[in-house]
Amino acid sequence: MRMINFSAGPTGLPLEVLQKAQSEFVNYHNEGYSIMEISHRSKTYEEVHFGAMQKIRELYNISDDFDILFLQGGAHLQFSMIPLNLYQGGVTEYVDTGVWTSKAIKEAQILGINHKVVASSKDDNFNHIPDINFDDNADFSYICSNNTIYGTQYKSLPKSKAPLVVDSSSDFFSRPLDFSDIGVLYGGAQKNAGPSGVTIVIIRKDLIDRVSSNNVPMFLRYKTHADAKSLYNTPPTFAVYLLNLNMQWLLDRGGLKAIDQINTKKAEILYSVIDSSDDFYIGHAKKEDRSVMNVSFGIKNKDLEPIFVSEALKNNMLGLKGHRHLGGIRASIYNAVSVEDVSILADFMKEFARKNG
Ligand SMILES: *Cc1c(COP(=O)(O)O)cnc(C)c1O
Repeated sequence: MRMINFSAGPTGLPLEVLQKAQSEFVNYHNEGYSIMEISHRSKTYEEVHFGAMQKIRELYNISDDFDILFLQGGAHLQFSMIPLNLYQGGVTEYVDTGVWTSKAIKEAQILGINHKVVASSKDDNFNHIPDINFDDNADFSYICSNNTIYGTQYKSLPKSKAPLVVDSSSDFFSRPLDFSDIGVLYGGAQKNAGPSGVTIVIIRKDLIDRVSSNNVPMFLRYKTHADAKSLYNTPPTFAVYLLNLNMQWLLDRGGLKAIDQINTKKAEILYSVIDSSDDFYIGHAKKEDRSVMNVSFGIKNKDLEPIFVSEALKNNMLGLKGHRHLGGIRASIYNAVSVEDVSILADFMKEFARKNG
């Protein structure tokens, strides 16, 4: 029996993907070894590696103006790689919408680069996406498209004449995006793209070779990895393999437009339970900025929250405890969570409110 997985990440992968991996785990394509037991310089692995990149290109409809990199170090390493590679001695602009942007801003501080927080929702406990006016001449403008903890999301990406850098860790591959608005889009795979271990960086080619100083180590330069087609050092081969399977799963389901419709429907189901609960449940995010991926809410009577989480667990529903920064309850409803899964949670929520209201 498998749990319905509402964890924020790492989290559930589609069962079909896991079963496919299981079926070829010991003997990949009848070649007599596992995919993780073969050189990253082999043709067998290269097909997986470049196959995953190609599928990403196809899913997002990404032109040749962009490179796709597979890196390590998680989204966290990008917090410093972004300024190390893109800072040109001018000003950089950040929008602070929660823990993840705050961490990125902290790295800019540590590196001593000129950075401005041009908008923030901190004073409202990050419950909305603030209004933004970017400076056209900045070296880059930085946002997080989906705030995993607070459950807020940009409905569309803000316009920026300066290269727009987007931490998309928790809404990666959840909806179509227009890359003509984007300079760099990146994220760890473990929320909505695959398992942990690989970080995907989609970067406009003209931004690759701008490294901010001669003192930046080779490994921390985008150019190093772009030139080597992300095979500079040993990549996390098994993570890339699972990423490749997961991208195929998305293509088989009609791509990002199709999954976007399903994701929107799932979110509507949960938010409508919250909104019609007579304030039994209280949503955290302002309605217009609600995330389609992470539904963060509380129960008016806070004492009921741990009971909710433990009863849900008894009913086969995993990972509903809110992040320690916000508390409460959070249902992460990434691509692998089905409409049926979400309906089961919605029914549970209604019943819980009826019993305890
Ligand atoms: C999870 C998360 C991160 C951190 O990712 P790591 O891969 O663990 O470094 C960064 N940004 C967002 C939006 C996240 O959801």
